[in-house]
Amino acid sequence: MNFKRPPVIAGNWKMNGTSEMVIQFSKNILKRVLDDNAKRCEFIICPPAPLIPLLYESASQSAFLVGGQDCHSSESGAYTGDISALMLKDIGCSFVIVGHSERRISYNEINSTVKLKVGAAKKAGLISIVCVGETQDQKNNGETFEIVRSQVLESIPESASDSDIIIAYEPIWAIGTGKTPEIEEIANVHAAIRDVVAKSKGVEVAEKIRLLYGGSVKPDNVAGILSIDDVDGALVGGASLSSNDFWSLCENAAKLFAILNRKV
Ligand code: PEP
Repeated sequence: MNFKRPPVIAGNWKMNGTSEMVIQFSKNILKRVLDDNAKRCEFIICPPAPLIPLLYESASQSAFLVGGQDCHSSESGAYTGDISALMLKDIGCSFVIVGHSERRISYNEINSTVKLKVGAAKKAGLISIVCVGETQDQKNNGETFEIVRSQVLESIPESASDSDIIIAYEPIWAIGTGKTPEIEEIANVHAAIRDVVAKSKGVEVAEKIRLLYGGSVKPDNVAGILSIDDVDGALVGGASLSSNDFWSLCENAAKLFAILNRKV
């Protein structure tokens, strides 16, 4: 983590939770106050779409921002069951996750689909959290860098810059499994992603863009992962479903950031 890039902790509730869970989060964490030095951190919760308005209302004046889990690439139209970026913005979202591996796998989303969604999100004024990552087989075959590189290049529109996107490296084999890559592996992939961004968008954008790690991040491993230079935060699934776990995770990230901030 680098003090120049405000860290992001984003919780992805996936298809979990009812209004009762939002009420519990509201009581347990949404009103807590952070260390002054950590106020530049961004904490995001991405609940299922029907819970967004309630969460947005409960999180007002808190340290937490709200995001969607996916959006359609069109603004409106005959797309039964879909939600546009404009609609997410309209109900209080500042962010949207796009290209999560669960969407890529279950809904056959390919890089070009993700790219259109990122474009739609940018147009609506949302920051996209663009997910990339390799499968276990691809890792075993030594294809990690190649896969991640092509996902980054093909999923992000030419016009998108560091203020429009955050990239989340999520090895698919680490999601929900309790397994994480070695610290060195995370460091190498993140450095490679920053390099790809530098070559495609310039060094200035690469230095400013935030890169998250996702895949079995928990309160007790978050500090180690965020200590890696090129890791600017985490995308968290399972541990974002418990208000206690998510709060400890956010607090641990904020403490680390506060230490970095005080050192300069
Ligand atoms: C995710 O689905 O984006 C994720 C990182 O999940 P988990 O933290 O449960 O591995």
